[in-house]
Amino acid sequence: MERRNSDMERRCRRLKNGRPGEGPVVYWVSRDQRATDNWALLWAQQEAIIQQKGLLVVFCLIPEYLGATSVHYAFMLNGMAVMREKLAELQIPFVLLEESPHEILPRFLRQIDAHVLVTDFDPLRIKRQWKQQLLKDVVAPVYEVDAHNVIPAWLVSDKKEYAAYTLRPKIQRLLDDYLTELPELRVHPFGLGYSGDFSQLPCRTELGITQQKVLDLIAGEVAGLDAAQLFVNSRLAEYAENRNNPCIDGQSGLSPYLHFGHLSPQRLALLASRSELSGEKIEPFLEELIVRRELSDNFCLYEPQYDAFAGFPEWAQKTLNEHRNDPREYVYSLQDLEAGETHEQLWNACQIDLVRHGKLHGYLRMYWAKKILEWTSDPETAMEYAITLNDRYSLDGRDPNGYTGIAWSIGGVHDRAWRERPVFGKIRYMNEAGCRRKFDVPGYIASVLSK
Ligand SMILES: Cc1cc2nc3c(=O)[nH]c(=O)nc-3n(C[C@H](O)[C@H](O)[C@H](O)COP(=O)(O)OP(=O)(O)OC[C@H]3O[C@@H](n4cnc5c(N)ncnc54)[C@H](O)[C@@H]3O)c2cc1C
Repeated sequence: MERRNSDMERRCRRLKNGRPGEGPVVYWVSRDQRATDNWALLWAQQEAIIQQKGLLVVFCLIPEYLGATSVHYAFMLNGMAVMREKLAELQIPFVLLEESPHEILPRFLRQIDAHVLVTDFDPLRIKRQWKQQLLKDVVAPVYEVDAHNVIPAWLVSDKKEYAAYTLRPKIQRLLDDYLTELPELRVHPFGLGYSGDFSQLPCRTELGITQQKVLDLIAGEVAGLDAAQLFVNSRLAEYAENRNNPCIDGQSGLSPYLHFGHLSPQRLALLASRSELSGEKIEPFLEELIVRRELSDNFCLYEPQYDAFAGFPEWAQKTLNEHRNDPREYVYSLQDLEAGETHEQLWNACQIDLVRHGKLHGYLRMYWAKKILEWTSDPETAMEYAITLNDRYSLDGRDPNGYTGIAWSIGGVHDRAWRERPVFGKIRYMNEAGCRRKFDVPGYIASVLSK
């Protein structure tokens, strides 16, 4: 008799009671697009084994998603092909449904008489809206598992945290207990558990697998894990020292894999914490990977206006309002910014870097967003432009980290008040001179323009 794994159970919450069907347990994969190290899929398999049911993984593909471009779709679908192959090795079928989840899933689940629906947790508004609508129409019970945070976001804190220093102790209290080894997904003993014909359903089961690089990266869970191991073995030792210098390859570069769920953050945290390096070398990386990343999920989960002026803390709204009518020395349109055509060479180089390579160094991301505040007519426009450009060009865009990072830069979220100055008010200021003190600005510009 299969016993419930308590480590898995505590990462899961029920969204809806319902009538379990006779068909398979269905995992609707959304944020965590991998077969390996995925708590949501592991929970789905456990449930299927206990109930002696089949297991099916579905993904809902829509043609437009929060401004994603063909580059994002290519990276995602390449990664999904790898996941599908891994699942097939374990006799777990995968289907792709080409419609919005809240529209197609209730119909699809009825057709296959699904036993239960399991999905992964995501704090973004669109995902939560889909789930809300879906819950009205799905007959089967629905569960949600946090496969992205080491400690489930709803459990580590039940409110919007003020800053990293308020979330950190809550994480520290639970971390040893939650940073556990993940079980292995098994060959599924009950197959699909549905005898109907998939060709009668609006879905496709084939995905072309390709090793083609997207923006210099191979997508998918195999490449993601390889990249994580390489980083831990070769660059983690210097991370604390090098991470803030855009001229050095000091960051992990793993955010696209984490964003698309090709890499489990928990696996990455385990790899780092089990390395032979001293705590002093490992802790700064875990601070970013766990505390800062999970703080972003906390912000998006508990602040409905995470991408708007109204989501800024009160002190920040007040000071930005007081400086709303300050004259701006330069005001650029979205097109000027997008083309990297401002008066400042460093900012233009950042924008060109972002457009050409789908990424911008973490330190420069702050600088880049703060200048958008300085060079647009008001903070609302600054938010809109920064989010549009970040989501359009960053391979890791449309992520809670992005919305929170932009709200930090423009709206003081998780930060404190600084010395008052024009336009910014008490929002922390950054300028090119400060960058020159930190790193070789001409060297960075030259390297971007020569690539
Ligand atoms: C204006 C702005 C926009 C940003 N947009 C995005 C975005 O679209 N997508 C995105 O994933 N991150 C975003 N960030 C956060 C951060 O800059 C990136 O996560 C980081 O640069 C990604 O590179 P890396 O994986 O090499 O990071 P590393 O330094 O190697 O860190 C490892 C992981 O820790 C997490 N992390 C690191 N820094 C932060 C941070 N400041 N906040 C939250 N989590 C962090 C990320 O998951 C990252 O992949 C943004 C930050 C700012 C200021």
